[in-house]
Amino acid sequence: MKLPWRVILLWTLPILVVGFFLWQGTFSPSPGDASGNRANTQLSYGRFLNYLESNRVQAVDLYDNGRTAIVEASDPQLNGNVQRYRVDLPEEAPELITKMREADVEIDSHDNGDNGAIWGFLGNLIFPVLLIGALFFLFRRSNQGGGGPGQAMNFGKSKARFQMEAKTGVLFDDVAGIEEAKEELQEVVTFLKQPERFTAVGAKIPKGALLVGPPGTGKTLMAKAIAGEAGVPFFSISGSEFVEMFVGVGASRVRDLFKKAKENAPCLIFIDEIDAVGRQRGAGIGGGNDEREQTLNQLLTEMDGFEGNTGIIIIAATNRPDVLDTALLRPGRFDRQVSVDAPDVKGRVSILNVHARNKKLDPDVSLESIARRTPGFTGADLANLLNEAAILTARRRKEAITLAEIDDAVDRVVAGMEGTPLVDSKSKRLIAYHELGHAIIGTLLKDHDPVQKVTLIPRGQAQGLTWFTPNEEQTLVSRAQLKARITGALGGRAAEEEVFGDAEVTSGAGGDLQQLTNMARQMVTRFGMSDLGPMSWEEQNSQVFLGGGLNRSEYSEEISSRIDAQVREIVEQCHQNARQIIRDNRVAIDRLVDLLIEKETIDGDEFRKILSEYTDIPEKEQYTPQLQK
Ligand code: ADP
Ligand code: MG
Ligand code: ZN
Repeated sequence: MKLPWRVILLWTLPILVVGFFLWQGTFSPSPGDASGNRANTQLSYGRFLNYLESNRVQAVDLYDNGRTAIVEASDPQLNGNVQRYRVDLPEEAPELITKMREADVEIDSHDNGDNGAIWGFLGNLIFPVLLIGALFFLFRRSNQGGGGPGQAMNFGKSKARFQMEAKTGVLFDDVAGIEEAKEELQEVVTFLKQPERFTAVGAKIPKGALLVGPPGTGKTLMAKAIAGEAGVPFFSISGSEFVEMFVGVGASRVRDLFKKAKENAPCLIFIDEIDAVGRQRGAGIGGGNDEREQTLNQLLTEMDGFEGNTGIIIIAATNRPDVLDTALLRPGRFDRQVSVDAPDVKGRVSILNVHARNKKLDPDVSLESIARRTPGFTGADLANLLNEAAILTARRRKEAITLAEIDDAVDRVVAGMEGTPLVDSKSKRLIAYHELGHAIIGTLLKDHDPVQKVTLIPRGQAQGLTWFTPNEEQTLVSRAQLKARITGALGGRAAEEEVFGDAEVTSGAGGDLQQLTNMARQMVTRFGMSDLGPMSWEEQNSQVFLGGGLNRSEYSEEISSRIDAQVREIVEQCHQNARQIIRDNRVAIDRLVDLLIEKETIDGDEFRKILSEYTDIPEKEQYTPQLQK
């Protein structure tokens, strides 16, 4: 294709000008990219000196006029494997060079040495080079006009998006609280380490395992631990990275990934979020997605294409196993499913133990009581919790993490950032009545979880909060408990109504109402706890639009209106009950409101003590004090 000169000049001139200005930045070597390695771990100068003294340093590359160094040092924890670290050096350290010489370290300097002559020479050179580059660029562009098949092929190859870690450095010891999964996967380590043990007796080694569980439960960590324990490289890619705009890119990425993996066998391939590619073919919004189907087909082909004993094990993770294509779950593919669930109390204690290893905890802090305060927390939540607590501790200039920081961190992780309390005003009083409404009903109903604390300090979206201590060992919920929860949730609105009158009620109860309506509806449609009898009318979370045959049950108009009537009846009953309890305890509430406005937070024990001066508090069989040791 011919280009008139004018066009070329028009294009190259701006390129040259821009290039000239970019030039200084791009041509001084920077330690990040010049090392050709992915992000190096940062090492403090002090540790670097230690390493130097213990003769672990092998080579040092200096950048930025000797202010940054990329250090190659062997790591005894990784069997003496060489690791790269990035070290920021102090400005004045002439003795360092001597030290390095003494330690027989290979030193290389990549200074941009502000040397006029060299720069002048380079400057002269740069223009012709840029010109040629620009011409070349134009030539290529014009040649490929519109991106033919050649270009698409390049995309997949050049942007190999999978990551490879030669050594993950994660061991089974770092994964806690998911013991069953660990036991199941222990075997995979043996497959990778000693395949002959299985092949000798004619066993076919499984190719893949599917980790199923909610986010943050440690699926990625688990996969890394398997690779770490077996001492094999870890290849990882996320399902969403397969799916690109261009058809064929995903498939070629799969091919690349498996090619690389075969070169590095034995190894482990980890495919995160496999549901992004592995969704049931030909289902979902707008029919199929060509690109995804091609990618999936390629994945299936690759998985069939090698024998189990080539030493490649594929671990995939998802939190939606229900949408996966059945072809993926067939024997010979991801035939092993291991579920990784949110940990129970014991699991949380052991996860906390793992993450407390490198943190300074006050001896008063009991990990067990933290575990008991955090039902539903995943491993990632717990790691985050301890980190938040550590940050708070540093901010408060304390030596070690104490209960106070842990407490604040839990509140923060559960309910969001703390806001500034309102000044005393009518709306503050209303919020106080609202929260105490929840708290009083929660305390006076035998079947309700006990109050942990009531607070007027805003967090996240909420202006005030009443915390309850759920009983986690219990997995079944009785009808009486559900009704108690509905009544408790209505406590806020009921208090507003009783104290301020119907006209003054606020939108603050919106969230409560949504929750309790949901509960009441489930009582009727799923748990058979109404006059409609023991029948199920709806499935949980039917994700209609995601495909995969999760249809909600059909019922007649008549049933539909009876369901509504039953839901209304349950809620109305609870509402009346809630208002009654508020009316009966008005004196106690008035006093508690004054106290709450003054103190901002009342904890459960104090709350119960004051309330018991006015009325009898029913014994809760499950109640155990949570925060005290
Ligand atoms: P997932 O892949 O299931 O979403 P990750 O493995 O990415 O979760 O977990 C994120 C982080 O949370 C981990 O790096 C680890 O610090 C912490 N974590 C999660 N689960 C556990 C666990 N079972 N034991 C120890 N730490 C965990
Ligand atoms: Mg993950
Ligand atoms: Zn409320």
